[in-house]
Amino acid sequence: MATTNGAVENGQPDRKSPTLPRPVRNLEVKFTKTLETMDTGKPFLHAFFIDLEGCIKTLRYFAGWADKIQGRTIPTDDNVVCFTRHEPIGVCGAITPWNFPLLMLVWKLAPALCCGNTVVVKPAEQTPLTALYLGSLIKEVGFPPGVVNIVPGFGPTVGAAISSHPQINKIAFTGSTEVGKLVKEAASHSNLKRVTLELGGKNPCIVCADADLDLAVECAHQGVFFNQGQCCTAASRVFVEEQVYDEFVRRSVEFAKKRPIGDPFDIRTEQGPQIDQKQFNKILDLIESGKKEGAKLEYGGSAMEDRGLFIKPTVFSEVTDTMRIAKEEIFGPVQPILKFKNIEEVIKRANSLEYGLTAAVFTKNLDKALKLASALESGTVWINCYNAIYAQAPFGGFKMSGNGRELGEYALAEYTEVKTVTIKLDDKDP
Ligand code: NAP
Repeated sequence: MATTNGAVENGQPDRKSPTLPRPVRNLEVKFTKTLETMDTGKPFLHAFFIDLEGCIKTLRYFAGWADKIQGRTIPTDDNVVCFTRHEPIGVCGAITPWNFPLLMLVWKLAPALCCGNTVVVKPAEQTPLTALYLGSLIKEVGFPPGVVNIVPGFGPTVGAAISSHPQINKIAFTGSTEVGKLVKEAASHSNLKRVTLELGGKNPCIVCADADLDLAVECAHQGVFFNQGQCCTAASRVFVEEQVYDEFVRRSVEFAKKRPIGDPFDIRTEQGPQIDQKQFNKILDLIESGKKEGAKLEYGGSAMEDRGLFIKPTVFSEVTDTMRIAKEEIFGPVQPILKFKNIEEVIKRANSLEYGLTAAVFTKNLDKALKLASALESGTVWINCYNAIYAQAPFGGFKMSGNGRELGEYALAEYTEVKTVTIKLDDKDP
């Protein structure tokens, strides 16, 4: 994810930060150095510079909002004073996934707390470590008991209890579309709690013939292989205009061949293991489906022979829209590359799925870029960049990729109730 004005520079947290007392900052360093990589198997430098830096920036951004949650005065055609108050919702639930365990938690915790709510968190069963450690830091800095409650456990028990609890007034969920539907159903059967959902994606990445090809190849590569491909934003449908298709495929294979795979604690590593056996099997099954359905395997296509849950970076060309690898979320290191002839056609094909999380466009033509930005049905459109996510800018999905927005000022509306207060004034002169 892109970074600006980071709190972490040259591998060291900002020592001038006035926001945390020194003992906590020291704990922060120890914590960043090991836990999220142990939790997930993601490369250490990614955990450090992307996950942790993203958490710090999100916390700082929403801390700035805490004393600016304010209503409006509203003129009417009557003799009244009318104003709104933005009040806390109360107890909010947060259910998080295993791919960015701490970051997804902080995206929920920070706006919830800055709007004055309390939170009950359920981390994913595979990755509870960083949430629990954050809990110990929260205790150490002196939050009142009960403001943040971290309850590890399984989805169908703990997650379902949060979704259906009559005294939880809002739930923020990140995970699969399938479970998102269950959460919404439980919310509706219990107390109609407010629900925000950040769900899956099968994100189009469109490379026009006039693009800077070096940039497009590299962004598409990082866009799909980052985090072992386990990203809701993964560039998992790369549409390339026919004039540059063969060259794009050739260069993408070169990138895939060079991707360093191995021990996530080795700072040279770019790709670690998949999260668990279930996901590993699902990815290999999708790779096999690509081979059987007639996609051309350009590189990879199997697990690493000599170690655990590692999968070779895999590139498929000659992919068509009806293949499973072009329709289903793979959540693994697999790059399906499709060919297109013109803009109208690619818009239609990009919008043809039920997902609508992110899209990316590579072109030097501004008219084309703006046309695609407006036509693509997704919550985010990146032009000549990828995974450029900022605490200040809203993030969320169209269609079955979700409801509501996290991050930015838009997120505040998800964590407040608006109350209208109307005071009738005396009609007589004072
Ligand atoms: P998942 O199976 O949907 O699980 C997400 C969370 O929901 C976990 O904490 C899980 O608990 C819990 N859960 C499972 N069943 C539940 C139920 N009946 N009621 C309430 N909670 C329940 O997804 P995942 O395997 O963690 O993550 C992969 C998926 O998440 C992908 O589809 C990906 O696209 C999506 N994702 C989306 C975003 C986004 O921002 N849009 C970000 C990251 C991931 P357990 O601990 O038991 O698993």
